Amino acid sequence: MVRDVRRVTAPIVTGVLAAAGLVLANPLTGAAPHGSGRPAVRNVIFINGDGMAAAHREAARLYYAGLDGQLTMDTFPSSGQLTTSPDDPEDVVTDSAAGASAWATGVRTYNGAISVDPAGKALPTLGAQAKAAGKATGLVTTAQVTDASPAAFFANATDRAVQDDIARQYLQVSKPDVILGGGEDWWLPAGSPGAYPDQPAEDPTEGSRGTKGDLIAQARADGYRYVSTPAQLAAAGPGKLLGLFANQEMFQQRPEGQGDKYDPVVSLATMARKALDTLATDRDGFFLLIEEEGVDEFAHNNNGARTLQAMGELEKAVTVARDYAARHRDTLVVVTGDHETGGLAVEEVNAADESGDGTSAEDGPFPVKGSTFRFVIDWTTTAHTGQDVPITAYGPLADRFTGKHPNTFVYDVLKPVLTR
Ligand SMILES: [Zn+2]
Repeated sequence: MVRDVRRVTAPIVTGVLAAAGLVLANPLTGAAPHGSGRPAVRNVIFINGDGMAAAHREAARLYYAGLDGQLTMDTFPSSGQLTTSPDDPEDVVTDSAAGASAWATGVRTYNGAISVDPAGKALPTLGAQAKAAGKATGLVTTAQVTDASPAAFFANATDRAVQDDIARQYLQVSKPDVILGGGEDWWLPAGSPGAYPDQPAEDPTEGSRGTKGDLIAQARADGYRYVSTPAQLAAAGPGKLLGLFANQEMFQQRPEGQGDKYDPVVSLATMARKALDTLATDRDGFFLLIEEEGVDEFAHNNNGARTLQAMGELEKAVTVARDYAARHRDTLVVVTGDHETGGLAVEEVNAADESGDGTSAEDGPFPVKGSTFRFVIDWTTTAHTGQDVPITAYGPLADRFTGKHPNTFVYDVLKPVLTR
């Protein structure tokens, strides 16, 4: 807070300084009026480990960093917790749509909602508002680029299933400058396979299914460079960028040994780096959403090894973002999850303590890095749970992300930053 108060540049009396500090500390009012007490954040990188809560982070810490180590995401100087309850007529536990809508609009809503309120009314999103304020915007995900979490930041829909209309809104309404991830099937009509063939052997249910025409052609007409391979992505110059690298998710989410694959055509970290290179040219700053979807999807399948693999890829992308912010001190990086998936627990290796069988049997043992210890991952559900999620932050204003808050708090902090 001392750091923030020091940024008040006008020669003002102590009482006003105190008031500015109070304003900054108040999630309902956000930044101070007239720009005087506003935080010096120009860029925001918001990172969603979909389905990631404390136990996912701890399992990944043991596996990748060891008993004395830390993940990059856990070295961030500020840490808090978010509750994730939706405002749903039937459900207590959130889905990704309501969770991301809370971040992107500050309103708790029903499961399946994409940034509409419980009555179905469209709400202003962080992505669209940042764009309107002059910032460059982007989204990077290993899910479909139109899946619920990115969609909530850049679209409005009463049902998360209308991914082709969400793609249309990206082009016609919210206009993110960078769109990288999976979900090609939603950008093309049936019968137009695109760069990724329909009905592939690894998942014959995949195939183009859009009802809004050839949105890839429309994107090109709108000035986007369209890429579908790692080489094209690497070669892409400055300017608006659309990259689609899978029919649906950039992996195959299944239980162990049933065709489960986590092998994105391009890594999340590579996509994140490219997005940062592209967005950083905007003098007004940028907002970038980065999402690793594999944590959630493999936890749904109670697949411990693949969940850890996805956590490792997320961690690499977090490191890319943190390194960028270390070089650009006006950049805030926030890492959290939209909800917990799997009800997982990190346990000792103990044959007498086995709580499930079949898919939900314990996974492992997995090695603890740098030691002879091992641990197992135990699951309680193939669904989401209501556990709260850790949130860690790095850069200016990171200290706002302390304490325990509803997930709408993310919007309360970021909105004044992204719209000034
Ligand atoms: Zn999920």
